[in-house]
Amino acid sequence: MRVCVIGAGVVGVTSAYFLARQGHEVVLVDANAHPAEVSSYANGGQLSYSYVAPLAGPGVLPSVPGWLLREDSPLRFRPRLDPHQWRWCLRFALACRASVARESTAQLLALSYLSRDAMHALLQQEDLEFGHLKNGKLIAYRSPALLDKARALVNYQAAHGSDQQVLDAAQTLAREPALAGMGASLAGAIYTPSEEAGDCRQFTQALFDRLRQLPNVQCAMSNPVSGLQREGRRIVAVHSRDGDIGADAVVLATGIGTRALLRPLGHDVPLYPLKGYSLTVPLAADDTVAPRISVTDYERRIVYARVGGVLRIAAMVDIGSANADIDPARIALLKRQVAEAFPALDLGQAIPWAGLRPATPTGKPLIGPSPAANNLWLNIGQGALGFTLACGSAALLTAQMAGLETPLDAAPFRP
Ligand SMILES: Cc1cc2nc3c(=O)[nH]c(=O)nc-3n(C[C@H](O)[C@H](O)[C@H](O)COP(=O)(O)OP(=O)(O)OC[C@H]3O[C@@H](n4cnc5c(N)ncnc54)[C@H](O)[C@@H]3O)c2cc1C
Repeated sequence: MRVCVIGAGVVGVTSAYFLARQGHEVVLVDANAHPAEVSSYANGGQLSYSYVAPLAGPGVLPSVPGWLLREDSPLRFRPRLDPHQWRWCLRFALACRASVARESTAQLLALSYLSRDAMHALLQQEDLEFGHLKNGKLIAYRSPALLDKARALVNYQAAHGSDQQVLDAAQTLAREPALAGMGASLAGAIYTPSEEAGDCRQFTQALFDRLRQLPNVQCAMSNPVSGLQREGRRIVAVHSRDGDIGADAVVLATGIGTRALLRPLGHDVPLYPLKGYSLTVPLAADDTVAPRISVTDYERRIVYARVGGVLRIAAMVDIGSANADIDPARIALLKRQVAEAFPALDLGQAIPWAGLRPATPTGKPLIGPSPAANNLWLNIGQGALGFTLACGSAALLTAQMAGLETPLDAAPFRP
């Protein structure tokens, strides 16, 4: 089968690789000259296989008014005259119900464990350099009450196969001395030894380099797609700047660009851009200031990961930002908060970045056939977890496309 995959972010490149390895002829198309130039560029680097609870959870709605009033809030909401924004927010509010959040967490955990196994199998086959570390993760809490609540989630996740431990402040510092800067404000942490990290862009680029060497793969970069031509129930052509591309099947892995291609076909998806920021801090080879274990500062919603020779710091959810422009005020706030937690860290050379998480209200990606055409497939909406979920999403997609038994129940992720 000849498959056209549109989108060379982490999700599209991984999908194209899995399809090519299944023996399909693959055409990978992207508007940019290089892979991972959009949301996959400088993300938090966390392969957060065990900690996948979606943003929508029972604790979120009561916190929102406080977040909206505080200048140093991790979440910023800009209401817009945009029905799509309001529909998305309403569905997000409904997804915050405890029963829905519990179910979504369990479904995401199943997908993330599939992803971990698929990533490990991939790395057995391909020697990819992307600063990959199996260094574990600490979710650090300032509030003892929130740490107690997290204990309940740990117990719940344990029932689904997660190995996590609750640490008090002294145990946390013994595991990660770099957290000493948090001082007396540190209540403790959840430690997950199995978590991993790496550079998402380097991973995507390295996999792309392998992909383009395969004889059954053609990469058409710098080639924006303007639309899909449907005849009857089939997509018969992909209209791209360099000409029409014919294929037996088309996969949209177009992240936040997906609605523009789908809506003309009468299919809308609940995908909304949640803007976030990152800092990339170069580290000396003998650095002892940055954490060695990946850290999440829970109350501030800031994640830290050592990837290669840098510390990647990512944070914030801005709802209603129309583009991925860097807001200097948000970067200045992030730097202040990082300096409070890690006072000895030199942020002088920190490189700022902003990106849009392609998010669904439930946090669950949409993986499977689009109702718009019989040969149109989606792999979108990985939100805050695109790097973590990429390999599992590709495995789930390609099994469905091949008509094989799926490695997990595909229904919760059906578009
Ligand atoms: C601040 C921040 C921190 C994050 N931290 C983490 C983390 O620690 N761990 C994690 O797992 N995830 C993290 N994420 C989420 C992760 O980065 C995303 O989920 C992931 O990058 C989405 O990948 P994607 O391939 O779907 O989209 P993208 O990377 O955006 O790729 C989509 C591609 O489609 C192309 N495209 C779109 N429309 C068209 C068109 N019409 N024609 C041609 N090409 C088109 C684009 O050019 C782009 O290359 C973070 C995100 C942000 C913003």
